[in-house]
Amino acid sequence: MAAVLRVSRFLPGRFCKHVAFAVMSSRSMASKTPVGFIGLGNMGNPMAKNLLKHGYPIIATDVFPESCKEVQELGAQIVDNPADVAEKADRIITMLPSSPNVIEVYTGANGILKKVKKGSLLIDSSTIDPTVSKEMAAAAEKMGAVLMDAPVSGGVGAASSGKLTFMVGGAEEEFTAAKELLSCMGTNVIYCGQVGTGQAVKICNNMLLAIGMIGTSETMNLGIRLGLDPKLLTKILNMSSGRCWSSEVYNPVPGVMEGVPSANNYQGGFGSLLMVKDLGLAQNTATNTKTPVPLGSMAHQIYRMMCARGYANKDFSSVFQFLREEDGQQQQ
Ligand code: NAD
Repeated sequence: MAAVLRVSRFLPGRFCKHVAFAVMSSRSMASKTPVGFIGLGNMGNPMAKNLLKHGYPIIATDVFPESCKEVQELGAQIVDNPADVAEKADRIITMLPSSPNVIEVYTGANGILKKVKKGSLLIDSSTIDPTVSKEMAAAAEKMGAVLMDAPVSGGVGAASSGKLTFMVGGAEEEFTAAKELLSCMGTNVIYCGQVGTGQAVKICNNMLLAIGMIGTSETMNLGIRLGLDPKLLTKILNMSSGRCWSSEVYNPVPGVMEGVPSANNYQGGFGSLLMVKDLGLAQNTATNTKTPVPLGSMAHQIYRMMCARGYANKDFSSVFQFLREEDGQQQQ
């Protein structure tokens, strides 16, 4: 600050403020401590790149060394395992496929908790069972660290453009510190409550998303069989009470909309296999809390059947195509 004060006597007020901001922000850039990142897959890779873009040094690892190449070329330091990440960084983000991977990465033989520093902030953005988030948070607490769950909504596109939504659960007093990092990767960072509540919101959202997508697909299919033009039907649904995200933004019928997976043979987007995982989590939590979710159960079964019939890697809106095949109609 001394340098700023010295020049400020010779500069007009607004310019002074500008210089002061520049000096302060270059200082905070310089003082950014490394952030650990574990799991550089479809989502983790672009997320880590956005942290690098914001000036955070990254210490990263992934079981597949290939996955680390891109961020390494951009300056990230790659280490052998999660414990080595924890040795070098006291803020760590994990972005892993499912609950068993998260358990391994935190509590395994070379897991984060083997070398975690006291006071570390651990943020798990994977979509997993909220019970596992709570167990991992309890294990972290024993080591003097804090774990928050922060699953995301938005796919690879949102991860690349830094426009994810983060649903955050954990100690409220740590939220500001978590938000500082998560804001580099997302436009909405929302505090949901105690640890596990971020996962709870994510699971509820995706159960409704699946039910809405199946409902939209069977409605569209019925309309087509009744002789309606799918574009006309969509237009009227979207000005009526049947409107929903799946009809309006992500229509499952090929030819109705541009720029969605249904316009591209259901490539890209959110795979049916990932939907099966999220619906399975909804089923587990519903069973544990004795909550009736009949439509959620049905949605789970439908997506499981789809995966068994070759739709696993197609976008989840391909349920429309699946229903067309089921009722013996020619594919659109
Ligand atoms: P992914 O499979 O592409 O990436 C996961 C990465 O974790 C892989 O690179 C894998 O090698 C790595 N990994 C697995 N076990 C590991 C271990 N023990 N140590 C180190 N690395 C390990 O998955 P993704 O699509 O990036 O999804 C990650 C999470 O985000 C999932 O929980 C998913 O449900 C959720 N999610 C995905 C999307 C999406 O559109 N892909 C959208 C929202 C949420």
